[in-house]
Amino acid sequence: MAENAANFTSTFQNRPSIFEVIAQKSLNDTVYPALQKVALVLATNLPQKFSWLNNYFDETFLVLNGCLQYYYLSYHDASFAENFYGLKRVTNDGTLTKKNREISLIFLIIIPYLKRKLEEKIALIRIEEAECNLSNSLEGRLKKSLLYSYSTLELVWGLLSIQNYVRYMAKSTEYPTPIFKLINMQLAYNTELLDEPGFWTALSKGDLSWSQLSFGLIRNAVATSLQVGAFFLQFLQTWNAQKSNHNMTDLPNIKSPLIDTKSVAYREKCPLCLKPWIIPTVLQVSGYIFCFRCILRFLNENQRCPVTNLPAKPLDIVRLYIG
Ligand SMILES: [Zn+2]
Repeated sequence: MAENAANFTSTFQNRPSIFEVIAQKSLNDTVYPALQKVALVLATNLPQKFSWLNNYFDETFLVLNGCLQYYYLSYHDASFAENFYGLKRVTNDGTLTKKNREISLIFLIIIPYLKRKLEEKIALIRIEEAECNLSNSLEGRLKKSLLYSYSTLELVWGLLSIQNYVRYMAKSTEYPTPIFKLINMQLAYNTELLDEPGFWTALSKGDLSWSQLSFGLIRNAVATSLQVGAFFLQFLQTWNAQKSNHNMTDLPNIKSPLIDTKSVAYREKCPLCLKPWIIPTVLQVSGYIFCFRCILRFLNENQRCPVTNLPAKPLDIVRLYIG
């Protein structure tokens, strides 16, 4: 009993503040939209080379994020964002087992990937519902029930997270988020300082030769560069947040074509079915107007504008109220 009490006290003493917990979560949530923005800019400006990056961005991010988080969990017992804020994951026994790391990886990589895929589908169902396109068929009813269950789940999860934050601040729980409770891990300060040679320090002092390059030094170079990148990411996010109408995840500004000769051929009609529009819907990246169903079906199969070939996703459409 006394041992447990001692362990409990030390856990609470070494636990990070709510601000650090929220800051690391915010950094973790910023990496995806930031890299997505880079992929979108590349695919827009160099479509021949990088259109695949936009089409398979989620899968590319899954692999990159997988490698990053695997490295940080293996060497620092933490995710990239947690390590950036000097935190690490601990269990009640103190050490992190191989199984703990595997579970952490699933919750850091696989579940966010599946969540994003599900959210894409849900967003499309929401558009269909708003346009009263959900029929009373079995498919329509299934889509409606998926929409309502997801909205309820989202609300319940949000309330649970807030309640957990309050309990964490009041020190009545040692789990910073409901996910940590689910996987039975906590966050603590990483007090172990790694005795690794600093790559950039050695380079700036000029006492780095090829013979000195070791695995530890290269690892240090990559890790430090990523951390500097993360710092700039946070900085840019704050900078952009100050501009009221700008967001990092906004579509890139594309130079409008001087004279688009193709547009004349599609005056007052959908470029896909070549008939007058049924529910006119504009594709943001190109400005062409299609029927709602035509463009949605096309974008689900090909992630590009059918006329200009600019990269586009199903959520890049906007309903037009004309006539
Ligand atoms: Zn059409």
